[in-house]
Amino acid sequence: MGSSKRESNRKSSRERNSQYDVIVVGAGMVGAATACLFAKDSQKYKSGPLKIALIESRESPQFNPQQFDPRVAAITEKSRQLLERCGVWDAVAAKRVSSYGAMEVWDAEGTGRIKFDCHDIHQPSLGHIVENSALVEALMAEIADLENVDLYCPAAITEYQNTEDRLNIVLDDGTHLSGNLLLAADGANSAIREHFEFETVEWDYGHVAIVTTIKTEQPNQRTAWQRFMPSGPLALLPLDNSGDLHHCSIVWSQDTAEAERLMSLDDEQFCSALSRASEHCLGDVHEVEKRFAIPLRQRHAKDYVIPRVALIGDAAHSIHPLAGQGVNLGFADIEVLAEEIARGANREIDLGDLSVLKRYQRRRKPENLATMAAMEGFKRLFAAQPPAVRLLRNMGMSTLNELTPVKNQLIKIAMGL
Ligand SMILES: Cc1cc2nc3c(=O)[nH]c(=O)nc-3n(C[C@H](O)[C@H](O)[C@H](O)COP(=O)(O)OP(=O)(O)OC[C@H]3O[C@@H](n4cnc5c(N)ncnc54)[C@H](O)[C@@H]3O)c2cc1C
Repeated sequence: MGSSKRESNRKSSRERNSQYDVIVVGAGMVGAATACLFAKDSQKYKSGPLKIALIESRESPQFNPQQFDPRVAAITEKSRQLLERCGVWDAVAAKRVSSYGAMEVWDAEGTGRIKFDCHDIHQPSLGHIVENSALVEALMAEIADLENVDLYCPAAITEYQNTEDRLNIVLDDGTHLSGNLLLAADGANSAIREHFEFETVEWDYGHVAIVTTIKTEQPNQRTAWQRFMPSGPLALLPLDNSGDLHHCSIVWSQDTAEAERLMSLDDEQFCSALSRASEHCLGDVHEVEKRFAIPLRQRHAKDYVIPRVALIGDAAHSIHPLAGQGVNLGFADIEVLAEEIARGANREIDLGDLSVLKRYQRRRKPENLATMAAMEGFKRLFAAQPPAVRLLRNMGMSTLNELTPVKNQLIKIAMGL
């Protein structure tokens, strides 16, 4: 069955179905997981499986077993369970997953420190570091085996024609598709969000995230390290190279001028700067891979839905990476949307109907907004200069560290348990 579907996905788009229940645009982590989840879930629908089109403008990233992807995501247990439902977790784990059992967060001044440990809450880990390319590759392989998903890649939408009961689109090769529901999973700069004039609230953090992979003197202890500095947080996420624990993926968020300076350093100077910034928590930084600088912008769509169109993942909300929540929020979006779609389908309601989509928006917006507000609060709190604020903040962290039940509850919330 698998190989026949792979062939059908190689057919010219004219040979494929052009009438779909759901059209997903963007096959990043969120869009690809959506197509997979909806395709599988709907196999149990009374009305039969949904027909899904997945449109992606770029060739999928390729996982490289010889080298860590500079783009990784720390995913929660809840997200891992979702990927299991998609049928891809084992495939991702077979490529490479680094699980972490502890997290240590401290303040630049060294007076506030908090440590979370999975053993305190009787869990095998706090979360998992997955490489974006490993996850997307596993999802795309699964999708190739799903009879009810057609992949259009590389392809982009050039025209939208709205009729009352369908949304019709035209692709750049002239293919016409129509669907009941269009899901925008096309990322933070969503062209669909722009086209349909969804309003957003957004602001520039004035921060740039430097991401890369490093090799350190000491093993990473399967611990995620995060140091908050007034100029921005530095995260060292532990990577597992077949048992060798000397690598970390870093996300070093700095104000733009400082990030430019750090990017201009040669590798040796950068390793020294990073060793100092991490307070040598893993000894000296010995090696650094190619660095990438990503400007950070917080953005939230005021509405996620209009008739026949819904925003999901970063197209609906993009958030500072300091707490590693972005894709976890995206996965939570699609879990809820899948429930609402199932509910609508079983009641024979048109899936593009606003009554179906609004239920998704009502359930997801408060949580996404609360997480974004918390991240903004964190960023401001650690950038604060007044001594009283700094003292209270650092005392708060250390006090919380001693309050085991509260701390354990916090970890469970962060893990989505
Ligand atoms: C430095 C950094 C570190 C992060 N760390 C974490 C972390 O540890 N944990 C976490 O949960 N999150 C993290 N995030 C956030 C996470 O990366 C994002 O939330 C996630 O990538 C969003 O996935 P997405 O599929 O919604 O969007 P994207 O990953 O942006 O995917 C969008 C897809 O749509 C395609 N596309 C775009 N436009 C079109 C179009 N017009 N037509 C067709 N296709 C199109 C793109 O090619 C792409 O494949 C981090 C983010 C950054 C910047």
